Amino acid sequence: MGEASSFFLVKVLIGRKALSLDRPFSYWTEKENIHQGMRVIVSFGSSKEAIGFVVEEPQRIEKPLSAYVKETGIKLSPILSVLDETSLLTPALMEVADWISSYYHCDKISVLSSMLPPSLKPSLTALKKPQAKDIEMVYALPIKVSLSLNSNESALYAKVKLHPEGVKKNQIGAKKALASLLEKGALEVRKVPVYRIPEMVLAKAAPIDLTKEQEQVYNEVLSSKDSVYLLQGVTGSGKTEVYLKLADSVLRQGKSVLILLPEIALTDSLLNRFVSHFDETVSLLNSSLSDARRYDEYRRILSGESKVVLGTRSAIFAPLSNLGLILIDEEHSSSYKQDKAPFYDAIEVAKKRAALEGAKVVLGSATPRLIDRARADKGVYHLLRMNQRYSANQEKDLIVVDTNDPKVFDLKVSSLLTLPLIEEIKKTLALHQQVMLLLNRRGYAPAYYCRNCHSLARCPNCSIPLSYHKREGILACHHCGYRCSVSDYECASCNSHDFIALGFGTEHVFEELRFLFPQAKILRLDSDVSSKNVRHEVLSSFADGEADILVGTQVIAKGHDFPRVTLAAMLDADASLRLPTYMANEETFDLISQFVGRAGRKDLKGRVLLQTLVPENKVIQLASKQDYETFYRLEMEERRKFQYPPYTYLTSIQVKALSLQRCEEVANMVRSYLLQAIGEKRFNLYGPSVPYVAHINGRYYRNLLLKYKNQEEASKILDGLKPLALGNKDAEISINVDPGAESL
Ligand code: ADP
Ligand code: ZN
Ligand code: ZN
Repeated sequence: MGEASSFFLVKVLIGRKALSLDRPFSYWTEKENIHQGMRVIVSFGSSKEAIGFVVEEPQRIEKPLSAYVKETGIKLSPILSVLDETSLLTPALMEVADWISSYYHCDKISVLSSMLPPSLKPSLTALKKPQAKDIEMVYALPIKVSLSLNSNESALYAKVKLHPEGVKKNQIGAKKALASLLEKGALEVRKVPVYRIPEMVLAKAAPIDLTKEQEQVYNEVLSSKDSVYLLQGVTGSGKTEVYLKLADSVLRQGKSVLILLPEIALTDSLLNRFVSHFDETVSLLNSSLSDARRYDEYRRILSGESKVVLGTRSAIFAPLSNLGLILIDEEHSSSYKQDKAPFYDAIEVAKKRAALEGAKVVLGSATPRLIDRARADKGVYHLLRMNQRYSANQEKDLIVVDTNDPKVFDLKVSSLLTLPLIEEIKKTLALHQQVMLLLNRRGYAPAYYCRNCHSLARCPNCSIPLSYHKREGILACHHCGYRCSVSDYECASCNSHDFIALGFGTEHVFEELRFLFPQAKILRLDSDVSSKNVRHEVLSSFADGEADILVGTQVIAKGHDFPRVTLAAMLDADASLRLPTYMANEETFDLISQFVGRAGRKDLKGRVLLQTLVPENKVIQLASKQDYETFYRLEMEERRKFQYPPYTYLTSIQVKALSLQRCEEVANMVRSYLLQAIGEKRFNLYGPSVPYVAHINGRYYRNLLLKYKNQEEASKILDGLKPLALGNKDAEISINVDPGAESL
């Protein structure tokens, strides 16, 4: 056989992370069915089989391969096989991948990897994950009257024709008749995907009419040409109803809709409200689903069968085509920012996608991120407001208890719960209404203290204080998960067994509540209750009125509708003000004002009680009144004074290594590079500093922080870090552009 007169040149990214590999390599093939966005098997270096990702549409070269090699001197290897039948990413998503890689300074293969579900990642391990499941189905085709069939064939044809939905091939016994009918073109076999997706049978809510205010917002989004909208609507103003109507309208135009929520559990009532609303197929995308299901949902979206996708952060990469609308609920939630490389922000990705695909983005929140509200004020986003509550009673009684005052405690009764709080709980229980109690600290006590030498029990991996969990009888590290039994714990410095638990967490509060209110049914919820589904079960059983008191960490502040909660109380309301980040005020405001929104719905007036050491603090005061506007103005003033976002940009750089010495060495290398690259430019460089948790799980950490006004200059400087970042085997450097509160 002679050599073909043409071939395709294929640009392939190798599925491994290393500096030298962060660019495409050329391969050749004669196959027509290889396209951008598919995975292929190639040989690379010393490995016979490497996985590759085709990053550009293959280019046809109109000459024989040998002639090409001779002319160019480039030796090409062949594509060994193709793994995918269709492109895994739409052309727009391929562009999004490029953008993420350059904006967040992350190698492209890591970006692609975080965009795709486990079974479809560009890595060899993905091949061991669940693969696509298909079934062969037989369908009847129209036939000419002249076509002659024997009696077996006629019978089979008639039988198949009765089933327009197809007949499973392996259920047809008459193999000979089948073969000849296929041959004659009377039947055909098609592969049909089998989806491992359980059906959700949900009751439909009655259709609603939008209120005037809701209608106005709805019309404005549809009629305006703007791309990004910030829907700032108080809790209960009906943002969800507006989302649903907008989605309906976009679907009627034949376009698809992507909806992001901060988190999803299958028992969540909000999720049900979304899923049950649509007649169209809704796909869920969320990392807690099984790998097989994630693959199948992905396939169903790719095929165009699902036009609505509901998911958490990474669902922003759902391969929907003809995207019309992206809705992001509770847009202030920190969960939209990925906390590992690539450190992308789903809101930024949404904006990029929308711009590329001509879609609209609606960001919704009662307490938008300051930077988003600031952008809206500058006219970058289209600001929409909803101020009227549809269901909740707006009036609330507010009680702030100053815990500096010794008179508020009766130590014989409780050292955690103040007398006014105990009184309010009593009142609420007497009326058969519900109480929520928030304390943002889990465990029994945050510190375990040696009475003999006054040192704290610390985690051997992380060196941060261990928390005491009384019921389980353990000490636990909340960073790495280290646990040890309390009974045989001895002081690392003096071997004493005489310890005292200091401070208090949710477990301790739970215990006191049980002692004080023995008749009440009390539930506790925090991230110790690890599975999201269990968490949501507790929340929905409380929402259904199956308990009187719910005590927990910030997980109880979000999402759910609790119609019978009339008392929302928070202990140590100022705790998060003391976090070492410029976002401490914003985080505290969000938490308190969301929580305050939990009390009082419909016909019942709510009461809010805050126990705090700083009752006169502005953030606490404004949050308890849910006065976002004043908080926004004051906090923006602070940000301007201290030159924090949105007045500047930040990038944090984290160095992680197994040995402290190496960690410091590399951190100093990063600093030297940055100093030299910055030169005379207007940048502030801080660090290397020792982070709050400097030693986690046997690894050491150092942080550097870059503050600047010019994003383009910064981008060039950070690009120059890549050789250091990808070139060091024994230390990891991660660049976090626009870091969230957790990474500062
Ligand atoms: P948000 O998302 O802004 O907190 P929701 O959309 O959850 O508000 O609305 C709060 C409650 O009010 C929900 O139970 C919702 O069904 C109801 N609601 C809102 N708007 C309407 C409306 N126009 N007609 C009927 N019920 C509404
Ligand atoms: Zn000791
Ligand atoms: Zn630890």
